[in-house]
Amino acid sequence: MKRESITKADQLHVFNRDHWTCKYCGVPVFFSPTLKLLENLSPGHGYYHQHGKAGEMLRLFQMKIATVDHIVPVTRGGLNEIDNYVTACWECNLTMGDTEVGDKPTHDKTNADNEETGWDGMSSLYPKLATQKDDWTRHLNDTVSIELYFDGGSLGNPGLGYGSYAFRKEGMTTWSVMKRREEFGKDMTNNQAEYTAAIRGVQNVIKTFGSDLDLAIFGDSELLVKQVKGEYRVKNPELRILYDELTQLLQGCGEYKLTHVPRDQSKAIFGH
Ligand SMILES: [Zn+2]
Repeated sequence: MKRESITKADQLHVFNRDHWTCKYCGVPVFFSPTLKLLENLSPGHGYYHQHGKAGEMLRLFQMKIATVDHIVPVTRGGLNEIDNYVTACWECNLTMGDTEVGDKPTHDKTNADNEETGWDGMSSLYPKLATQKDDWTRHLNDTVSIELYFDGGSLGNPGLGYGSYAFRKEGMTTWSVMKRREEFGKDMTNNQAEYTAAIRGVQNVIKTFGSDLDLAIFGDSELLVKQVKGEYRVKNPELRILYDELTQLLQGCGEYKLTHVPRDQSKAIFGH
């Protein structure tokens, strides 16, 4: 498999998930783009050097820059997926190189201080110090852009209701959460199952990322999309309950936008 570069969104997701701690040595790591800005503000003080040259860069910063390590190296069949990514300091990453998987140190170190203090590798300084907006400032912004896909159905209509949903931060290449064919209960119509799948999806997005969101929702239920947009009325009383639940959730979570997508598109994501 080709070694792909890891997107900025994926890198930040991994660093945040790991509390900006090297999972191999347990030491706090630093966000190198912030160091670069500091070096620009105060050149020659060793915050950053393009090639991490010894003597040009403070040893602490040089060795403890945050990098993403593949747990199973790509050269040994490791995948370019979030679960195969882990935060490693530059020093550990360099030492391990292309070590055999079995010879690698364990990546289970934690740092209680980092978790308690909310250490962020100085990443939150970046948007404050940056003189113009770029990809990093956008990703480090407090508002989280999320894509959510949902799909629900019932066996028999009415019958056993089930549904799927998947979401990720915008720009990520893999899904943060993917639920397939969760069962919702008996005597459900297709439309009730669509609403329930959307509700479960939104609830889980909020649980994962908080409610300061810019949420883009995609589903193949034209009825649901048009009802939530206010283009269709909700006449069915049972659907009305689910409609109220969904719209209340959405009103509590910043910006949102619903888009109707063809069935093939959700099929491609959920595999059914
Ligand atoms: Zn380390």
